[in-house]
Amino acid sequence: MADQNERNEKQLKGTEEKYKLILENANDLITIINEDLQFEYINKKPFLNILGYNYDELIGKKGIEFVHPEDRDKILKTFIESNKQFEGSIEARVKHKFGHYITTETNGKTFIDKDGKQKFFVISRDITKRKREEETIIAENKKLQELSQIKSELIMRASHELKTPLSSVYAASQILLNNFKNQIGEKALGFLEMIYRGSQKLKQLIENLLDISRFESGNLNLNLQVENLVEIIIECCTDLEYWANKRNIKINHELPKEIFLSIDRIRMEQVIINILSNAIKYTPPKGNIYIKINDNNQWIDLSIRDTGIGITKKEENLLFQKFGKMQRISEDLDVEIEGSGLGLFISKEIVELHHGKILVESKGRGKGSTFILRLPKSI
Ligand code: ADP
Repeated sequence: MADQNERNEKQLKGTEEKYKLILENANDLITIINEDLQFEYINKKPFLNILGYNYDELIGKKGIEFVHPEDRDKILKTFIESNKQFEGSIEARVKHKFGHYITTETNGKTFIDKDGKQKFFVISRDITKRKREEETIIAENKKLQELSQIKSELIMRASHELKTPLSSVYAASQILLNNFKNQIGEKALGFLEMIYRGSQKLKQLIENLLDISRFESGNLNLNLQVENLVEIIIECCTDLEYWANKRNIKINHELPKEIFLSIDRIRMEQVIINILSNAIKYTPPKGNIYIKINDNNQWIDLSIRDTGIGITKKEENLLFQKFGKMQRISEDLDVEIEGSGLGLFISKEIVELHHGKILVESKGRGKGSTFILRLPKSI
């Protein structure tokens, strides 16, 4: 009997030692707080390492007094007033012996001890470093947002400033070409055409930059009206006919008489002109473009297929990015290479504002491309 008691006692001591070892070597602060909110137990080493206090400096003291005054209420409310196990964790700042605060993440639960008294078992983790890192990331993000805002404003202002003088150059060269062609010598005419084409391209680039600034600042608003999409498509084809003929490219369309959708006419024209002019640009002479409409229950698919240079899988990922212009100059593909790489980015944004999307299909280089404009029937 005596032997058995001795063995039991030894076993108990061994278990106690083990728990002590675990508690002392934990990375977290582990405490038992009594009904009067005093520390009854603390794991010494972590308290000394994390908060700088010795065992005697804490035992018997009120735990809540070490918590930052602004965080006391939430601690009291969560652990003490709730009177039940707390699920999840709360953040609270705890005072270090040297006066600064450590941010902790605290979990706890109440329990009844062997004498029937209610106590609190609390585990706190030092998250100061993580908090600091989070704060740094938030501050960096804010700074990046501010810089992006400055950049957008700068582009917006510069574009507006450039627009007026450039419009004069464009208009003047257009008037000269339309009305004074006969009075201008052949050599000068060549230069005048250069001025006209250059200013036209710059005008387009500035419009694109302004559109991007409008998207980024959330200022691009659609003017939705019920419009006949077919009529818009035919107008776009007419606008580009001269250029397509010049490049010896045939535009074929197979369209119903009318399809009415709620769209922003000017913006939708911009998208169709962009996709159609790309099809003309990136198709070598003698090629074809096929325009079709598929009427689905929920949406309309407008497909613009060309027999041009096609798009590889690698290029597909770049298509809708800002300045997603592909370098194909050295590939000798017999296509026009001018462009800013902003058109599809803007088109995608406009179509998404209409709750639609642009799909692309191509079997690869030289195999042509199909751009599908999918527009919902009701938005
Ligand atoms: P860009 O002004 O360069 O035409 P876009 O944003 O309209 O700008 O198009 C981005 C890129 O996508 C183009 O530079 C071109 O390489 C590719 N692309 C667009 N449409 C076609 C097409 N129909 N066939 C082949 N490549 C195309």
